[in-house]
Amino acid sequence: MALDNKLAELLGTRGWLTGDDTATYNRDWLNKYGVPPIGVARPASTEETAAVVRLCHEHNVIIVPQGGGTGLVGGSVACETQAVILSLSRMNSIESIDSNDFTAVVGAGLILEQLHTELTKHELMFPLHLGSEGSAQIGGLIASNAGGSHAFRFGTMQDLVLGLEVVLPNGDVWDGTRRLIKDNAGFQLRKLFCGSEGRLGVVTRAVVKLYPAPTQTTTALIALPTIDAALQVGRSLRSAAGELMTALEFFDDNILKLALQNIPDLKWL
Ligand SMILES: Cc1cc2nc3c(=O)[nH]c(=O)nc-3n(C[C@H](O)[C@H](O)[C@H](O)COP(=O)(O)OP(=O)(O)OC[C@H]3O[C@@H](n4cnc5c(N)ncnc54)[C@H](O)[C@@H]3O)c2cc1C
Repeated sequence: MALDNKLAELLGTRGWLTGDDTATYNRDWLNKYGVPPIGVARPASTEETAAVVRLCHEHNVIIVPQGGGTGLVGGSVACETQAVILSLSRMNSIESIDSNDFTAVVGAGLILEQLHTELTKHELMFPLHLGSEGSAQIGGLIASNAGGSHAFRFGTMQDLVLGLEVVLPNGDVWDGTRRLIKDNAGFQLRKLFCGSEGRLGVVTRAVVKLYPAPTQTTTALIALPTIDAALQVGRSLRSAAGELMTALEFFDDNILKLALQNIPDLKWL
């Protein structure tokens, strides 16, 4: 049986898309990269993901894992037609939130903003913030080792992930869903998958590190004459505020001009 038919039989009509139904998955965020693949697999579980990977492996077909498709380097779309896009978007559950050990177990397809929203109900936070958080998924954030505006205080995704479940290229499932902060047992294999862009396997579940939500926050915009002045102010603020300062971002005149030209509702008061 051809791969197409086997995947249709395995995943059903919700889980295996071909032809025009793949249109929204085929091109990247900038509409710059991507050719139509054989089809888009949308497994609903780790077992289905493993079965898809096994079949593609047997048929020697390229697999492109896809999260929210917000990556800007074309990594989540096919660059040749003999490929299967493996979208994690149906594996988007929040399995558990533990306020005692400050962890959450989530599906790789969970959108970051949905995690933020849910955590506010528990007075907890996950300290990763970036412009694409309304679409980017946990698996994609892990695979690209995303940073964002809070990275200098909380680190990048590799510092925020305690455990992972990954489907390896031959379809085996690696269960590394540990949840310890003081985890010094053997190699920290999970870190290998952070930033691997899907080349070492498909992330299916993650245990992420949470923090207490702050009771108060303040944001300041400081206008400075030179880059050197910005560096000095940044250094002083970090020394004075220590862990209380959670984000620091910089933009110059050119970026401001571009933003004012291109974002219709933006006004400079
Ligand atoms: C407006 C905007 C602002 C951004 N700001 C930042 C920023 O501040 N910091 C930053 O680091 N990035 C930023 N990005 C880039 C992008 O949002 C991040 O790279 C994000 O982590 C990608 O997540 P995604 O779910 O969209 O992944 P995708 O774009 O779908 O995929 C990215 C890569 O991960 C792989 N992948 C996806 N899911 C999995 C999985 N489950 N298992 C294995 N591999 C997988 C894909 O194959 C691909 O190689 C920004 C993008 C936009 C559009």
